[in-house]
Amino acid sequence: MSKTKVMLDENEAPKYFYNILPDLPEGLSPPLNPKTKEPISPTDLEAIFPKEVIRQEVSLEKRIPIPEEVRDTLIRMGRPTPLFRAVGLEKHLKTPARIYFKHEGLNPCGSHKPNTAVAQAYYNAKEGVETLATETGAGQWGTALAYACMMFGLKCKVFMVRNSFEQKPGRKIMIESYGAEINSSPSMKTAYGRAVLAKSPDTPGSLGIAISEAIEVAVSNPRTKYSLGSVLNHVLLHQTIIGQEAKMQLAKIEEKPDVLIGCVGGGSNLGGLIFPFVKEKLDGKADYELVAVEPSACPSLTKGEYRYDFGDTAGMTPLMKMYTLGCEFIPPPLHAGGLRYHGMAPTISLLAHKGVVKAEAYPEKEVLEAARLFARTEGIIPAPESSHAIRSAVVHALECKRKNEAKTIVFNLSGHGLLDLNFFKGGG
Ligand SMILES: *Cc1c(COP(=O)(O)O)cnc(C)c1O
Repeated sequence: MSKTKVMLDENEAPKYFYNILPDLPEGLSPPLNPKTKEPISPTDLEAIFPKEVIRQEVSLEKRIPIPEEVRDTLIRMGRPTPLFRAVGLEKHLKTPARIYFKHEGLNPCGSHKPNTAVAQAYYNAKEGVETLATETGAGQWGTALAYACMMFGLKCKVFMVRNSFEQKPGRKIMIESYGAEINSSPSMKTAYGRAVLAKSPDTPGSLGIAISEAIEVAVSNPRTKYSLGSVLNHVLLHQTIIGQEAKMQLAKIEEKPDVLIGCVGGGSNLGGLIFPFVKEKLDGKADYELVAVEPSACPSLTKGEYRYDFGDTAGMTPLMKMYTLGCEFIPPPLHAGGLRYHGMAPTISLLAHKGVVKAEAYPEKEVLEAARLFARTEGIIPAPESSHAIRSAVVHALECKRKNEAKTIVFNLSGHGLLDLNFFKGGG
């Protein structure tokens, strides 16, 4: 078998989502009702989510079966995804480390996001929902949900953060091509959007604001529900097919990872990669280094506080215990729009708080250098978000060179950057 590209057969595609909740070092602090500050009951969420999604959000089952229609759709869009060895990058760095990446950018949407979008659209369609409303940062999530809604016959309304809406016009076209409606957020379509625009007409927008708008649309329309592309337990649960596949692929070439890396916006692609490895680490059976990489300009894990906060800006979501920069924090405009989020998944936050996951932050300039290096050594234009993981992989590989250590480094290439080409402008 080739050791530069490790494939899995279709029948090896995971049949279960792997649930981290029963394996966590302690239970998660319960989400709180935004008004009463009491723990919410799962039924409180029924206005915005379908029952199966709520069940998965709190489930303590170790493995949750993937419905056949979902698994078939994932296979149809190209799963299982390949694990590549970054031979060109290794050679350029002259490192003794072996660098692998899981390529989540090869499906029609170009990122890891459809892994959960497909599952969520399916559960909503099965429960008779007609329309899904959502927010999107750089546009990958909006694209993925529009695609998944199209697959299962749902309508889709997307609120896209203004900064990215203006920076990445290709995403708008793509989302509309899948038949979804797209609005720049803050928009005039919601009371909350109109209020924000009245106060700050020039705001670049934020994921927090766009989430508030999408939730408003869901709660004010009976057959419309809301769908979130990151942060929540069920989203990270769906993404664990990435880590399950990676584990099988590494085993096939008799590799054991030393370092596992993912960029973090809300934590879903990192969680998807590392969750299937966490239990062995907690049980002392393996000493994986688990690394979350964020932009210096939006440093939730490295500079935020671990406390209860809202998931959105208007304060409509439940309060969650997480690392946060404060729900009113508006991150500066960044090319990595998918990483412009004030909070972090409660599961990733707990693991970071316990020292199981460690966080790194890099400035945009260093991230762009790493992205260009990747383009020139691997021939792949990476998403600006994923380029944070590349930057970290390079830093770890250079440390291996200094110490003459032959570590195995695995990072998640969460998406391609073909619709983010402005990031690369100027060649460099
Ligand atoms: C959305 C997105 C991210 C950030 O979200 P996570 O939930 O932290 O994974 C990272 N990379 C890409 C390509 C994305 O689309």
